[in-house]
Amino acid sequence: MTQQVALDTAALDAAALDAADPLASFRDRFLMPDAAHGGPVVAYLDGNSLGRPLAVTAERLAEFTAGPWGNRLIRAWDEQWMAEPVRLGDRLGEIVLGAGLGQTVVADSTSVMIYKLVRGALDAQMAQDPARNEIVIDRENFPTDRFLVEGIAAERGASIRWIEPDPDAGVRPADVEAALSPRTSVVLLSHVAYRSGFMADAAAITDAVHRAGALVVWDLCHSAGSVPVELDAWGADLAVGCTYKYLNGGPGSPAFGYVRRELQDRLAQPIWGWMGAADPFGMTESYTPAAGIRRFITGTPPILAMQPLKAMVELIAEAGMDAVRAKSIRLTEFAAALSDELLAPLGVELASPRDPAERGSHFTLNHPRFREATAVLWERGVIPDFRPPHGLRVGLSPLSTSFAEVRAGIEAVRDALIELA
Ligand SMILES: *Cc1c(COP(=O)(O)O)cnc(C)c1O
Repeated sequence: MTQQVALDTAALDAAALDAADPLASFRDRFLMPDAAHGGPVVAYLDGNSLGRPLAVTAERLAEFTAGPWGNRLIRAWDEQWMAEPVRLGDRLGEIVLGAGLGQTVVADSTSVMIYKLVRGALDAQMAQDPARNEIVIDRENFPTDRFLVEGIAAERGASIRWIEPDPDAGVRPADVEAALSPRTSVVLLSHVAYRSGFMADAAAITDAVHRAGALVVWDLCHSAGSVPVELDAWGADLAVGCTYKYLNGGPGSPAFGYVRRELQDRLAQPIWGWMGAADPFGMTESYTPAAGIRRFITGTPPILAMQPLKAMVELIAEAGMDAVRAKSIRLTEFAAALSDELLAPLGVELASPRDPAERGSHFTLNHPRFREATAVLWERGVIPDFRPPHGLRVGLSPLSTSFAEVRAGIEAVRDALIELA
């Protein structure tokens, strides 16, 4: 349904595309900086690293400060905050992740959540069969994912099996099948690759991992809020993701973690804190994990940092994930077509899948001068990001990006390259 998106790329007419965009008005719901705040931003092409704030964010934070925090004070823990990590997780699960109730929690940073889930999965597997001590991950995965796996392997005496995918694409089911064995305990993969934007076939890979008796952890950092995710339908075991990228939660907003219901009481997470215990205020002598998804919490939940995210989840609910995906495809198709016309003649190459069905909401372009070009662009209020060795990453956050903005951005890239030549 989201795949057949007609786009008249031949005309490359940004104004016409904006006029025909059913989600165009959603852009007005975001805060657009003015001159007084160092703006204007000409083209924001990095919503996949840090989403723009919603316009209501400041107001919501002020209400929160005066109301639940300032007035209800400590009483607010009982009245609402204790329930917040799971309540917000449930809503995120329903609107964005394809996850039924009681399987998603909002807590920690993504890195800490990856540690907890991968380590928990490995421990459970090794307890059943000590020979299942191999973690599978790919060389193109995000650094924190790779580093955490290195650390967990060192800590537990486990080994790592590296998949070596095509850097301009990503991990395919056959790559995973070739890496699986009776020793595989857990597989950690990104659903949408952070550099190439390649979108993995999560259902097929999950199935292959299960046939090998292993567990899979999906990293959804570059998926959540930009492409439809169907954790329950995929049969996923575990998942994690950021909320400050396409979910606009703000810098350092907490991660989400998903644990399939049947696994929750089988897995123990490695950071035993009082908030994940069965009776946090019982002040008990030793740790007994809470039942269900709550056991994956560790310490006091970051309630303040969850507030901006709530409004974004509701905005996505209003737009609908399928419509968000359809616009994302139109935006990336438009940007890629403009890049073919304006940048390819200057030696720029696409380092991402051509087929929109195989990518998320960002892609990477390569050119030897992109490091210098990015510095020039940032000064001009055109904001993509640079990924070594010479990649310019173009991220198009569907609800906050216009086609005119994309055109202005790609034209500015062309101008910078011409000046640097
Ligand atoms: C952005 C990102 C992270 C970030 O982890 P933090 O702990 O929030 O810094 C992790 N994994 C992937 C794949 C990412 O894209």
